[in-house]
Amino acid sequence: MTEPSSSSSSSRLPPTPPALPTLPFALPDIGEAEIAEVVDTLRSGWLTTGPKARRFEQEFAEFLGDAGLQCIAVNSATAGLHLALEAAGIGPGDEVITATHTFTASAEVIRYLGADPVIVDIEQHSWCIDPREVEKHITSRTRAIIPVHFGGRSADMSAILAIAKRHGIKVIEDAAHALPCTHRGAMIGTLASDAAVFSFYANKTMTTGEGGMLVTRDEALARRAKVMRLHGIDRDAFARFNSATPAWRYDIVAPGFKYNMTDIAAAIGLVQLTRAHEMRERRAAIAAQYDDLLADTGIALPPHAEAGDVHAWHLYPVALPAGLHRDRFIDAMFAQGIGMSVHYIPLHQQSYWKESCRLHADDFPVSETLYRSTASLPIYTRMTDGDVRRVAEAVRRAMEPQ
Ligand SMILES: *Cc1c(COP(=O)(O)O)cnc(C)c1O
Repeated sequence: MTEPSSSSSSSRLPPTPPALPTLPFALPDIGEAEIAEVVDTLRSGWLTTGPKARRFEQEFAEFLGDAGLQCIAVNSATAGLHLALEAAGIGPGDEVITATHTFTASAEVIRYLGADPVIVDIEQHSWCIDPREVEKHITSRTRAIIPVHFGGRSADMSAILAIAKRHGIKVIEDAAHALPCTHRGAMIGTLASDAAVFSFYANKTMTTGEGGMLVTRDEALARRAKVMRLHGIDRDAFARFNSATPAWRYDIVAPGFKYNMTDIAAAIGLVQLTRAHEMRERRAAIAAQYDDLLADTGIALPPHAEAGDVHAWHLYPVALPAGLHRDRFIDAMFAQGIGMSVHYIPLHQQSYWKESCRLHADDFPVSETLYRSTASLPIYTRMTDGDVRRVAEAVRRAMEPQ
């Protein structure tokens, strides 16, 4: 060995400060109550869709504050979006409009049904789908719009619902980020759209590990989605004509899917839901602390909700000033132990969408400019005020010229 021993080298070098542990980009907030509820399910003998999934659906409708809503628990938001579009009758030859600045799930469900996604740009002030772009892209084949409440800030639903009404097309909200969130004082999930779909993926504002909730006030849509959620099994068909239908009796009315939520997942959801407002308040406090700590850095802060509206604060993406290289900024954050992400690499930059929908970056100036300059900071309930300060300080150091 020719290398000096570590003890002799450390006696000559100034001691390096112990590295701070890495701050993850996202962490679920699971407490003892969630664990106890899952254990209760495991001991109950009923693991798959059963009493807890049913209770979760009821309590979700109560949470949204609208008794007229049907809530349909599924094993992902992607599944819920697929079911909603299927039940809305979307199929080959149809066009469905969604935003480029989203996760691929918003668009892939359109392809599941053999329909054609029409990808449009977002608005500068909200980072959500631009209603004027929606209007511009409506054709005789347009059947639905999928707005995304980006980062937990409501899209301009008033404009979108007005366009949909004028053209006789459906609105299915991708509400994956939007629990809880309001538009003009009304909870997302209770608007006049055809359906809204929430996600309980592990990094979302509340979680069931994997899971989602399809919410609708359309009885026919709900009925179809419930049948298609579980193999196309229809028990009601018999029950309607024969009150003495035996438990084993059912009919298959379509080649359905396997999209039901387990009671194990619902057990987590039941507890998370009771904490949803309190968890949102914590994320809003973190966002306010970031706003304050980053106000003088030259960084553009994420769009806030309209006055009086609730922002779910699922994400806290910032836009870097011109001249600061986004990828190098993220590298510098990682080097300081801060987990980072980008929301999103837009659909028009993804090979499949670019090729199959013939998308060109020039047609998405708002999304493209944001994509090149934005990075998302960690924002989740388990962060302490000290963690937030640590991230803000790391941002300042990452912005210093190298
Ligand atoms: C997470 C996410 C989805 C998909 O949710 P899953 O529950 O993972 O299927 C859909 N759309 C957006 C915008 C998302 O962020």
